[in-house]
Amino acid sequence: MKTVQDYIRTIPDFPHAGIMFRDVTTLFADPRGFRMAIDQLLHPYAGQPIDRVVGLEARGFILGGAIAHQLSVGFVPIRKKGKLPARTIEQAYTLEYGEAVVEIHDDALQPGERVLMVDDLLATGGTAEAGIKLIERLGAQVVGCAFIIDLPELGGRAKLEGLGMDVHALCA
Ligand code: 5GP
Repeated sequence: MKTVQDYIRTIPDFPHAGIMFRDVTTLFADPRGFRMAIDQLLHPYAGQPIDRVVGLEARGFILGGAIAHQLSVGFVPIRKKGKLPARTIEQAYTLEYGEAVVEIHDDALQPGERVLMVDDLLATGGTAEAGIKLIERLGAQVVGCAFIIDLPELGGRAKLEGLGMDVHALCA
């Protein structure tokens, strides 16, 4: 039987020479693969109260929408700066070359809400850490961070666990 990992392909030299890009579009495109991924992402949180799912742009939207639907809770996007139409709070984080900024609507979460944050891949953890900060700045609580792929050698898991986060990933 195929595993989630079997549906993911690796594209060499994308978007730059030397980068091995994990392409999850082949997982999303396959009905069995996609359902398996959503079911496995949710598995550790069965029975836990979750009020909202937050997805990180852009592939976190695809996963987060499906997970929120499955849990019958709302979905909230965290987007790159300048994309959200209403009032936002923003959080800067460091990239390999330079800095990026992500935003969330300032009324998207209520204090005390229990949030599951999702994205496709955890590398250095910079994006996820910025997301956690935005969620916590709105007074909500991150009960889990779920990813399809974890690249532990890049330090993201250690960074998030150092923040006290529960990190769940399906493959490396
Ligand atoms: P980090 O901030 O942890 O260094 O990088 C994670 C972010 O970059 C995620 O939002 C993820 O979508 C994106 N990312 C980095 N490398 C890859 C990759 O090889 N494949 C995919 N699908 N996303 C990647």
